[in-house]
Parts: sequence; C-alpha cells; structure tokens
Amino acid sequence: MPVRDNLATIRDNIEAACRRTGRDPASVRIIAVTKYVSVERAKEALAAGVVDLGENRDDGLLQKYEAIGREATWHFIGTLQSRKVKNIIDKVDYIHSLDRLSLAREIEKRATKRIKCFVQVNVSGEETKHGLSKEEVIPFVEQLRDFTKIEVVGLMTMAPYTDDEQLLRQCFRQLKQLQQHVQALHIANVRCTELSMGMSNDYVIAVEEGATFLRLGTSLVGEE
Ligand SMILES: *Cc1c(COP(=O)(O)O)cnc(C)c1O
Repeated sequence: MPVRDNLATIRDNIEAACRRTGRDPASVRIIAVTKYVSVERAKEALAAGVVDLGENRDDGLLQKYEAIGREATWHFIGTLQSRKVKNIIDKVDYIHSLDRLSLAREIEKRATKRIKCFVQVNVSGEETKHGLSKEEVIPFVEQLRDFTKIEVVGLMTMAPYTDDEQLLRQCFRQLKQLQQHVQALHIANVRCTELSMGMSNDYVIAVEEGATFLRLGTSLVGEE
C-alpha cells in the first residue's frame, strides 16, 4: 500500500477517536517508524506529508539521516546505550527512551543543544520491557532539575502486545496520571506536556486516552 493511503486511513481513525473524546486532531503527531523499511520508503512518508521519522537503532538512524538530513524531525525511540549517544546526539530532535541517570549524564555531556526527551516508563511491569517503574519516575525527574541540555517534554510507554482493550486503556491511563504528577512538580525543564504512546495495534485507544505522539511502523510504512 502507498504510504499516502495508509496515512489517510490512520488520519481518519485519529479524527474519529478525537471526535469521540472531544480532542483536537491537531494535537496528535504521527511519527513514521522506519526501522524495517528502506530509505526510499522513508522518503515516501515525507512526500505523503509526514514530518517526523523514528528509528530504534543508531546505525539505522545514521543511514536514514545521511540520505534525508534535516528535512525530517528525528526521533530516537529504541533502547539507547550510553556509548552510542555521541553517534546520534547531533542528529536527533527527540529521544523517547530516557530511563536512567547515567544516560542523562551522557546526553548532558555530549549535546550541543537542548534535546527533547521522553522518560520511558514500564507501566505494565513486563520483565521484557525497558523503562522505569511507575514509582521511580518522580525521584528520577527530580534529579534532572539542573540539567541544561535535557528537556523532559513528556512520558513514553510501550503497552503490552495484546488486543485486550481494557488492559491497554489501563496502561495508557496510568501513564497520563503519572504525567499529571510530574507536571505538579513544576520543574522548569520538565514540563512534561506530551505522551508518546500508541503503536500500530493500539493507537486508536491511545488517542482516546490522550496520546500526543503516535509511533507507527507497520500500519503506516509497512515492514519491508
Ligand atoms: C517498532 C517500534 C514501534 C512501531 O511499531 P509498529 O507496531 O510497527 O507500529 C513503536 N515504538 C517502538 C519503541 C518501536 O520499537
């Protein structure tokens, strides 16, 4: 399927979800996750009107960045090893996987401009998933107060892979509640206005529950 057609369907679904819940569709941003697809397919997404591209590995991001450059807004969405930070830091606009102090320190050391970060939270508590536990989030962001290169724009989670709607809803709601607790701290560089949640199989529910950034791979650009 052309990206353009997939995007039209996704936008329709987002609009319907927004209508049901009284949200403005303009408050939902679509990140095309291009980790499984070619540079050509990533360019097709840009031509279709997507501005945001997401990659989960440093080599994947570098390869796409080399071909596309500043035409896109770049999101790093995968687990980030501290020693890889220097490879990507001057290319990315957003990092969705901030989950430890050592990583925050490395970003602080390497960045030449402010990096918009999402704190990744393992809401569901699945052992295979990365991210801080819900309890760790507040103490963690308190420690970021004096960082000059890190701006915590929001929280990110990966929901369990399931079609149990209630379970998904619960997961997204908990992230939103946590966001409200973080906002109540009133930390200058931790405004935490965004929620990065919702992937191909659960994005409609995520929008209903307040997502502002969707990370869409399979449903938007496919997987080959
Ligand atoms: C691959 C990936 C996605 C996109 O997954 P789809 O189910 O293909 O939409 C979103 N977020 C992260 C962190 C990913 O690694």
